Amino acid sequence: MSTVTDNLQSDIDEIMPGVIADRRYLHTIPEIGMELHDTAAYVLERLKAIGVEDIKTGIAVTGMTALVKGTKPGPDRVVMLRADMDALPILEETPVEFISTRPGAMHACGHDAHTAMLLGIARLLMDRRDQFSGTVKLLFQPCEEIPPGGAKFMIEEGVLEHPHVDAVFGMHVSSDTPVGEIRFRPGASSANSDRVLITVQGKGGHGAMPHESIDPVITAAHIAIALQTIVARNLDPVDSAVITVGKLAAGEANNVIPDTAEMKLTVRTFLPETRAMVKERIHTLATSVAAAFGATANVEYSEGYPSVINDVACTALVEAVAQEVCGPEHAVQEKAQMGGEDFSYFLQQRPGAFFYVGTRREENGIAWGHHHPRFDVNEDGLAYGIETMSRVAMRYLNDGV
Ligand SMILES: [Zn+2]
Ligand SMILES: [Zn+2]
Repeated sequence: MSTVTDNLQSDIDEIMPGVIADRRYLHTIPEIGMELHDTAAYVLERLKAIGVEDIKTGIAVTGMTALVKGTKPGPDRVVMLRADMDALPILEETPVEFISTRPGAMHACGHDAHTAMLLGIARLLMDRRDQFSGTVKLLFQPCEEIPPGGAKFMIEEGVLEHPHVDAVFGMHVSSDTPVGEIRFRPGASSANSDRVLITVQGKGGHGAMPHESIDPVITAAHIAIALQTIVARNLDPVDSAVITVGKLAAGEANNVIPDTAEMKLTVRTFLPETRAMVKERIHTLATSVAAAFGATANVEYSEGYPSVINDVACTALVEAVAQEVCGPEHAVQEKAQMGGEDFSYFLQQRPGAFFYVGTRREENGIAWGHHHPRFDVNEDGLAYGIETMSRVAMRYLNDGV
């Protein structure tokens, strides 16, 4: 039974014009990567006006944290809410009045909306500090879009301590989810997204005298086929993974056996143990198959963002709140996605959940996807994100999970 009993709706109606104004202003000044100086300056000014406590700036270059402390007697938990603030290197084509003023940079993933929503949540929570105990830590993060990502650096700079954070929640707007719908998933909800470069070293020579060469083309071809046995023969059939050889390049001329061949792979897995198994098998197969042909293989495995693994109890809290806010039919458990998200680093350290907020905007039957030059956020969806996240935070602080 929730201890948060009042209706947030009238307060949300009151703050929405400010949230939309913040989002539109941020949309005009997109910045990329770690160097979000104008964005961070704007957020700082807004946080000061809202009156939150203990504002810390310059974390991982332009990241920030701030606190909203509840005054209700009760448990002393700390819940962290995260918004990412960075844009993408895209020339905007969305026909809006608040189009990017910086050609070649665009808020094409909706992080402007995430930042504006968290400022709205800060305002809402400041006004009802008497309704929760403990502390809400607000976290504004740079560089979600470019690995190794801002989350990792913010954790290294200690954002999960002082005060010690007990749980973390994040949300993302979704262009393929209707307004008024919240989507979530317990357990693994996005993929480990890794890249591999395999260089096969043979011995070049005349195409008509193969016995005097070591052919890296034939070797690489056998490696490519052998790699497909990992998913077929090593993976638990109820788990899933993808190994794609996206590039296999060698040689120039008809009659020359080249010296080397190069292979580039993308590897997607969900569970950490599957990722470790696949990584080990790729290395073993590539080097062993190469050795069998008298060649050598050098394997460079680059780990991208780990998969988002949502805590089951924290996801159940999101589900319960989303059912109240959106109605049971609009609180939807979704399938796992193959995309990447660096909120996963927070979830490696603390229990929590990451969920999706419907902001689908259709124009002539087309809803442009994230990272598209015509991507647009339907701002009508933002109130649902604000209410869900605010209620999740207060309920976690008062009642736990
Ligand atoms: Zn993105
Ligand atoms: Zn994003």
